[in-house]
Amino acid sequence: MSESCLFCRIVAKEIPVTYAYEDEQVVAFDDINQQAPIHILVIPKRHIRGAGALTAQDNDLVGHIFQVVNQLAVKNGVAATGYRIVTNNGDAAGQSVDHLHFHLLGGRDLGWPPG
Ligand code: AMP
Ligand code: ZN
Repeated sequence: MSESCLFCRIVAKEIPVTYAYEDEQVVAFDDINQQAPIHILVIPKRHIRGAGALTAQDNDLVGHIFQVVNQLAVKNGVAATGYRIVTNNGDAAGQSVDHLHFHLLGGRDLGWPPG
C-alpha cells in the first residue's frame, strides 16, 4: 500500500465510496464524477501504477478484472446494450490517479473517438 495513493486508501477503507463489488484481489466502486449513467471503477487491491506497469505475473489478475467488469455490466443492465472499458495510462491519456483502474461506462450512447 502506498500511503499517498488515493485508491490504496479506498482499498484500506479510509475513504468512503459506494462499493459495487469486492473480493480478495479487486474492489469496484462508483466513480465520484459520473460520466455516464453507469460509471464504475474496477481496481486491483495491490498497488500497480497503471496498465503500462503490468507484467506477465499480472496476467491472471487482469483476466480476473475483466471477468469482474463483465459481471458488473450484466448486473447493471448494460451488457446487452453495450459498454466501454477504459484505462488511461500516463499524462497524455489523462490518467489522474496512479493506481491501475478500469472504467466501466454504459447506459448511454458513447461517442467515438474519445476526447
Ligand atoms: P483517470 O482520470 O482515468 O485516472 O480516472 C480516475 C478517476 O477516479 C476519475 O474518473 C475520478 O472521477 C475518480 N475518482 C477520484 N477520486 C475519487 C473518489 N474519492 N471516489 C471515487 N472516484 C474517484
Ligand atoms: Zn495505490
